[in-house]
Amino acid sequence: MLEPDLLIIGGGITGQCAALVAADAGAMVTIVDMQRNAGSHANAGSLHVQMQSRFLRLNPHLADNLESSLPLYMSAVAEWQALDAALGGVELTQQGGLMLADTPAQLDFLHQKAAREQKKGLDVEILYRDTLHRLAPWLSPHVVGAELCRNEGKLNPLIANRKMREALTARGVRFVQDQITHITDGPRPIAHGAQNYPAGAVLIASSWGGGQLAQPLGLRIQTPPEPLHMNITEAGAYEIQHLVQHAERPITLKQFRSGQVVIGGGWQANLARDDSAAPAIKPDSLLGNVALAARIAPGIGGLRVLRTWAGYNTPVDGKTTVGAVRDGGRVFVGLPGDAGYTLGPVVGRMAANAVLSLPQAVDPEPYSPARWRA
Ligand SMILES: Cc1cc2nc3c(=O)[nH]c(=O)nc-3n(C[C@H](O)[C@H](O)[C@H](O)COP(=O)(O)OP(=O)(O)OC[C@H]3O[C@@H](n4cnc5c(N)ncnc54)[C@H](O)[C@@H]3O)c2cc1C
Repeated sequence: MLEPDLLIIGGGITGQCAALVAADAGAMVTIVDMQRNAGSHANAGSLHVQMQSRFLRLNPHLADNLESSLPLYMSAVAEWQALDAALGGVELTQQGGLMLADTPAQLDFLHQKAAREQKKGLDVEILYRDTLHRLAPWLSPHVVGAELCRNEGKLNPLIANRKMREALTARGVRFVQDQITHITDGPRPIAHGAQNYPAGAVLIASSWGGGQLAQPLGLRIQTPPEPLHMNITEAGAYEIQHLVQHAERPITLKQFRSGQVVIGGGWQANLARDDSAAPAIKPDSLLGNVALAARIAPGIGGLRVLRTWAGYNTPVDGKTTVGAVRDGGRVFVGLPGDAGYTLGPVVGRMAANAVLSLPQAVDPEPYSPARWRA
């Protein structure tokens, strides 16, 4: 095998987008992936921009990390729009996202959140009952208001992943199935698995598998997987155009163009029993998640759930990490913060630009791996 200019560990959305940018710049690229539990193959296709209430609730100590990253989420949506055009359409729409409130206290929380987000440049507005129900007549009468974030949207990840793979194959990017166990740093680093992979540069874009590879190189980053539950229903009439979340309850809800409703938002699954298995669903999560969805949008209550699944999310500290493991080194990391499918393309581009010393459209400095150096 010819030694690539760039070897990417992890073939999810981040690694693939880095590969696309590098290949377009003329680099020879190989992706090594153990093909286990990629979040990119489990996710719901929400383009998140506003701060997710679930993250704030579970990680109040990390709220600053998320808030300071908000400009990156806006760049991420712009990157997805460019990708949508380049790939020939991934059903991306940007009708905005609604975060719902059932009580005045929840609406008050959304007011405060929106004020913080506006300061970061997000296009957000609080909608009260009448305006909201005119905009989204399928909502339950329980809902008293919402925060509308016009930057948000949705896409179909099944289509995006397929088209991305085709685009990379057409550019000669090589895919290898292997599990990398460790990396030897140096001017020509080597990733070690069942085979050794020397390369001009190595990019760790392996989400939940990233910490284990980066720690021996001097980064204290931990990347524990968070197993989460998802559902998809049969097709109904296409009515729900927004990405839907809730101020206090764990839910994301959206409709694909097919009319199928995708329901998730942070209900727990069980960790896989070992590296060869997938995370297992919890019946309580299935029931709780779809019941909450039907309470929010009663019209979908009659649709049958066709499929449920679970996958690994890796929010780390709510803030992206991208750049060289050590200054001047040839090993890099590209690990998106919370909502990693949204962030994957922009983080992949930043990582590829760092590897190839290309100009950065987004300043990578706030996301430098330096904060993890031992
Ligand atoms: C159920 C669910 C729903 C989600 N919904 C959304 C959403 O709607 N919107 C959103 O923005 N985000 C969402 N996320 C988060 C998002 O899916 C992930 O953050 C994102 O896909 C991460 O992409 P990635 O390319 O960085 O990593 P991944 O897609 O996780 O890919 C990492 C790859 O690295 C490989 N790997 C790991 N270790 C090694 C190793 N040692 N050697 C070789 N290969 C290795 C794995 O096999 C995997 O293929 C969701 C996550 C889950 C679980």
